[in-house]
Amino acid sequence: MNHADSQTEAPLPQEPIPLAQGAARSLYVHVPFCRHRCGYCNFAVVVGHREWEPRLLRAYGQEARWTRNDAPLETLYIGGGTPSRLSLPGMEQLLELIHSRFRIAPGAEWTVEANPEDVSPAWLRLLQGYGVTRISLGVQSFRPEKLRRLDRDHQPQQIRRAIDRVLEAGLVLSLDVIFAAPGETLSQWRQELEAVQASGAQHVSLYGLTIERGTWFWSLRHHGKLHEVVEEVQAAMYLEAIQRLTAAGWEHYEVSNFARPGYLCRHNLNYWHCDDYHAWGPGAARHYQGTRQTNHPSTSTYLRRVLAGRSPVWQSERLSPQLRMREALVLALRTTAGVDVGAFGRRWGTSPWQLAGETLRRFVEEGFLEECGGTLRLSRRGLLVSDALWPELLAEA
Ligand code: SF4
Repeated sequence: MNHADSQTEAPLPQEPIPLAQGAARSLYVHVPFCRHRCGYCNFAVVVGHREWEPRLLRAYGQEARWTRNDAPLETLYIGGGTPSRLSLPGMEQLLELIHSRFRIAPGAEWTVEANPEDVSPAWLRLLQGYGVTRISLGVQSFRPEKLRRLDRDHQPQQIRRAIDRVLEAGLVLSLDVIFAAPGETLSQWRQELEAVQASGAQHVSLYGLTIERGTWFWSLRHHGKLHEVVEEVQAAMYLEAIQRLTAAGWEHYEVSNFARPGYLCRHNLNYWHCDDYHAWGPGAARHYQGTRQTNHPSTSTYLRRVLAGRSPVWQSERLSPQLRMREALVLALRTTAGVDVGAFGRRWGTSPWQLAGETLRRFVEEGFLEECGGTLRLSRRGLLVSDALWPELLAEA
C-alpha cells in the first residue's frame, strides 16, 4: 500500500446504509473484547470469543480500505472494550495496518486503553515500537473494596505494577477513575484523590458512577440491593476533585478531565472542537462535516456485514446546519476554556447569541454560565449539572 494514496481500493458499500467518507486527522478503533462484563457497563463489548480476533482484524482491514487517507493522522485512540485483550500478534497486526494505511503526522498522539492486569513489558515495547505515546489505564479505584463493589476483576497491586511499567517505559499515563461507587464516603474519595496525585499519572478522567438501563447494577438497584450515593455527596466529591487537583497544579480542562500542564488529550480535544474523525470497529462512531455514523454495536453483526463487503453502519445522521452549530456550542462548553464568542462566529458564520441567545442568557442569569471577556463558560454551579443543560441548548434546533 502506498501511504500517500488517497484513493480507496474497495468500492464503498451502499447497503443497508451507505458508509460515509471524509478527510480526517483522527482515528478511533474499537476493540470489543472484555474478560467479563462489569456490572455498570453498557458499552459495545463481547465477553470471551477471542477466536473472533482474526475475523475482527480482517474487518479492520476492510474498513481501512474504505477509509480516506489523504490527511496525515494526528491522533489515534484504540479504545474498547479492552484493547489490551488483543493478542500481541493481533495488536501488532492492527498497528501495522494503521501504519500501512496512513501517513503519520510528526508528533502524533497515539493512545491505547488497557486494563491493569494486561500491561506487560513486552506489550509496552510492541506499542512503543509502533509510535504509541500514551496509555489510558482503566484503574477505576485504588481501593480493593471499591473495586469489588464496582465488579472489577483487578487488584490494587496489579494497578501499581502497571503504572510503574508505563512510567518506566516513558509513556504518558492517563487514569480512568470512578467516584460515587455504592457505599463510598467523601473521606474515602479524598484518599482516592491522594492516590491519583501520588500515582505519577499526567492525565486523569473522573467519572461519577451512572447506572444505565440493561446493566446488572440497574437490576440490583431495581431490587433494592444497590443504593446510589446521594446527590449532595456526589456533588461534594466532584467539587473536592476539582479543588484538590487544581490546587496541586492540574489543569481542569473538560467537565471530567484533568491534566498536568502540556498533557491535554489531543484526541478528545478534537471531538470537543467538533472536528472530523474516522472510526473502525463495532459500535464505533465517525463524523465528517456534519454526517455522523455509528457502526453496528453487535460484534457478530458487524463482522458478518463487513466481511461480506457490506456497510457496517447502523445509524447515520446528516446534521442540519443549525444542529451542527448547536452541537459545536455544547461541545465547546464542555471544555473549561469555554466558547470564544468571536472565534465561534468566524468559524460558523453566526454568534452563539444569535444561535441560542434566549437559553444562553437564562443560563447566565441562573448562574450556570459565566460571560467574561468575550468568552462563555460553565460556572462552578454549571459544572455540577452540565448534562442537564445540554438538551435545552440542542432542543431549539
Ligand atoms: S472492562 Fe470496561 S469496557 Fe469492559 S466490561 Fe468493564 S467497564 Fe465495560
